[in-house]
Amino acid sequence: MDLKKFIIDVKDFPQAGVIFKDITPLLNDVDAFKYVIDEFTNFVKETGANVIVAPEARGFLFAPAIAYAAGCRFVLVRKPGKLPRAVNDVEYSLEYGTGHLQMHKGDLRENDKVVILDDVLATGGTMDGIIKLCHKESNVDIAGIACLIDLSFLHDDALAKEYNVKTLITY
Ligand code: AMP
Repeated sequence: MDLKKFIIDVKDFPQAGVIFKDITPLLNDVDAFKYVIDEFTNFVKETGANVIVAPEARGFLFAPAIAYAAGCRFVLVRKPGKLPRAVNDVEYSLEYGTGHLQMHKGDLRENDKVVILDDVLATGGTMDGIIKLCHKESNVDIAGIACLIDLSFLHDDALAKEYNVKTLITY
C-alpha cells in the first residue's frame, strides 16, 4: 500500500525549520491503519518478541493494537513526571540539548525479547535512549525496532547494522 499519501508535511511545526510528518490522516483511514497494524504485527511475530516498548505520544497510537494482535505485553516510555511509581531514567540527545525518558521499574523482566516501536525515526537519538533504558534493570534482548516513518537523511545506518529494523515509509 502507498502509505505516503496518508502523511502530510507541515512546514515550520512545532518550530521554524522543521517539516513535521502529520500521521493523523493515516489513523483516519480504516484500511491504512489496519495495514500498518498488520505489517508490524507480522514483524513482531517474526522476531519472537514477547514485549512491545513504545514512547509517548505517538508510539502509544500503534503499540497497544499490535501488542493485542501479537499477544505481547506493552510497556510505556514517558517523559519525566508522568509515571507515578519508581522509574528507571535515561538521558538522551535532542536536536538541541538533551532530555530524559523514563520507564516504571520492574516493567521489563529478565530475558524479555523486546520490539521498540515509534512513529518517526529522525536523528535516532530517541531510539538510542530507549535502547539504553531497556537495558537499565534487566538482561533483555532487543529483538527488533519498528518505525512507521524513516527520515533516512537524518541518521546513519548504525541502528540497522546492529538491530533488526522494520520501517514502512522512507524519505
Ligand atoms: P529523533 O530522536 O531525532 O529520532 O526523533 C524521533 C522522535 O521525535 C519521534 O518520537 C517522533 O515522534 C519525533 N519526530 C522527530 N522528527 C519528526 C518529524 N519531522 N515529524 C514528526 N515527528 C518527529
